[in-house]
Amino acid sequence: MRILLVEDEEDAARLLAKGLRERAYAVDVAADGESALLKTAVSDYDLILLDILLPGKSGLEVCRQLRSAGNQTPVLMLTALDQVPDRISGLDHGADDYLGKPFDLDELLARVRALLRRRPRLEKDVIEVRDLRIDTRSQTVTRAGRPVELTTKEYTLLEYLARRQGEVVGRADISEHVWEEDYDPFSNLIEVYIQRLRRKLEEGHAGPRLLHTRRGQGYRLGNPEADDA
Ligand code: CA
Repeated sequence: MRILLVEDEEDAARLLAKGLRERAYAVDVAADGESALLKTAVSDYDLILLDILLPGKSGLEVCRQLRSAGNQTPVLMLTALDQVPDRISGLDHGADDYLGKPFDLDELLARVRALLRRRPRLEKDVIEVRDLRIDTRSQTVTRAGRPVELTTKEYTLLEYLARRQGEVVGRADISEHVWEEDYDPFSNLIEVYIQRLRRKLEEGHAGPRLLHTRRGQGYRLGNPEADDA
């Protein structure tokens, strides 16, 4: 899952981005409203964390512009102005939820998960693909009851493919939702991660292969089909 964090205070942004990355989210950071709008125009984020007090365009204005442009990405507003009128104003401008600063990271993460769950594909906390089980709350993975140890990035990639199990997921989609904006589209990073993930999921397991390559199209998690490699 990829999050856009819009926060002008550098230290706060760095800390929050670090906390989110540790929980397997890809995070892009924008320090003002204009660059936030530019980023949302080129990338399809799964969620936006939006500070209200920003230099130039306020978070409220950014949210209003997003919604009037038809962007439906969930928005969680963050601000020190934790007063009822500001809360109402944030929701009136199209935000989905509101959290006053200072906030507890665990509460923020719980609200992020709650907002992501509203999207139909993301509603489940535990995802199963045959004998593979992914618990998205604890970020633990087991296959046939045995734990599979993954790095944060490998986990993020697996969860994304699992949320779309049965579908062929293209490289562009993967880079957009699993990697951050510094991803180089000409690198072979996705292939490298797919190979590592495949090795960890399938080595030593008698069960069927789960992670398939559809040549020239992308990758698919689930039962094999005739034209998978
Ligand atoms: Ca601010």
